[in-house]
Amino acid sequence: MNWIKDRTLSEYKPGETIAELAERIGVDPSSILKLNANENLFLSKRLQRKVVSDALSGLDPRLYPDEGEQLEKELGAYLDVDPDSIIVGNGSDQLIELIIYSTLQSGDEVIAINPTFSMYRRAVKIRGAVYKAVDLNEDFSLDSGKMLEAVSDRTKLMIICNPNNPTGNQFREESISELINGFEGLIILDEAYIEFALSSMVRETEKYPNLVVLKTFSKAFGLAGVRLGYAVTNPQLTSVLKSMYQMPYNVSQISRQIGSQVLKNKLEIMDSVDEAVKIREWLYTQLSRIPGVRVFDSDTNFILFNTPVDADKVYQKLLSKGIIIRKFGKILDYDNCLRVTVAPLQFMEAFLKGLKEALE
Ligand code: PMP
Repeated sequence: MNWIKDRTLSEYKPGETIAELAERIGVDPSSILKLNANENLFLSKRLQRKVVSDALSGLDPRLYPDEGEQLEKELGAYLDVDPDSIIVGNGSDQLIELIIYSTLQSGDEVIAINPTFSMYRRAVKIRGAVYKAVDLNEDFSLDSGKMLEAVSDRTKLMIICNPNNPTGNQFREESISELINGFEGLIILDEAYIEFALSSMVRETEKYPNLVVLKTFSKAFGLAGVRLGYAVTNPQLTSVLKSMYQMPYNVSQISRQIGSQVLKNKLEIMDSVDEAVKIREWLYTQLSRIPGVRVFDSDTNFILFNTPVDADKVYQKLLSKGIIIRKFGKILDYDNCLRVTVAPLQFMEAFLKGLKEALE
C-alpha cells in the first residue's frame, strides 16, 4: 500500500483551523485573528451581505449553471478582453491543475521560480512531471536569462507568480516579456494579487498566444470561500482547456452569481484595495522599526519579513495569543521568514503587539 503513503504526502495542509486553535487555547473562535491566507479583511459586512443576497435573489437552483455566458461576458467587459478568451474555474487552484494536466505528460518539465506558491509544485508532482525551480535573485527580482537557460527540449511550461507569493514583489514587465518571447512553450502568469500592485499584463494575451494569465476572486474581491477564479488566454486555447475539464459544470451557479454581483461593486472593492495598500505601507514602517526584523517590499496584501530568533518559536507564540500567520523558515539566504496578511488597523496593531512580545 505504498502508493497511499505517496499520495498523502502531497496533501495540501493550510494549517490549524480557527476552530481547532480556539479550542486548544481556550478562547472564542471569533477572537482568533486569521492572518495567514491573504484574504481581503477590509470588505465591509454590509457589502458581503448585499453581494450574497443579490446573488441569491437571481438564482434558480433547479437549472444547471450557464457556462460561458453571463460571468464571462462581465469579466470580458471588466478586463476589456474577448469573453471567449476566459475560462472560469473553482478557484484558480482548479485552473492551475487543469492547465498542468492538459499540457504535461509524465516526464515533461516545468520551470518555475523559487520561492513561489506551493500549489504549482504539488500539481506538477501529482502529474508525474518534473518541477525545476530557479532561484530568484537575492533582491527577489527575476533572472529571465537563468530561467531561459534552464529550458530543455522537455520543458513544456513556465509558471511565474506576479506579484510573487510569498516574497510579495512584482517583477519588471520587461523580464516577463523576455520569457514570453524567449520560450516557445506555455507561460502561466499568476496574477492572484495584481489588484494590489501596479499593472496587469492580462491584455498581453491578445498579443502572445503562449500566455495564460490566472486571476482570482479570492484576494482583492474578497470571495475566497466562494471558490471562483479564471484564466485569460487566446480563444483557441480557452476552448481546448474547457474541453479538458473532466466534469462539466465545475463552478456552481451560486458562485457565478456571486462573482457577477461583486463585479457590480467594483468601486467599493477598489476602495478596500486602496485601504489595504495604505495599511501595508504603514505596517512596513512599523515592522522595519523592530530591532533585528528585516521587512521585504510588497506589492500585495501581505508582507514577508524575517526575525532574529527562530521563526517557529515566534509563530507558536503568536498562535498561543490567537494570531495565525504563515511560517516559511529559510527563504533563499534569509533565515526565519514569516508572512502576514495586511488587515485593518486594529488587527495590525494586535499583531504588532503580539509579535513584539513574541520577540522579547
Ligand atoms: N495563486 C496564488 C499566488 C495564491 O496565493 C493563491 C491562494 N493562496 C492561489 C493562486 C489560489 O487561489 P484560489 O483561491 O483562486 O484558488
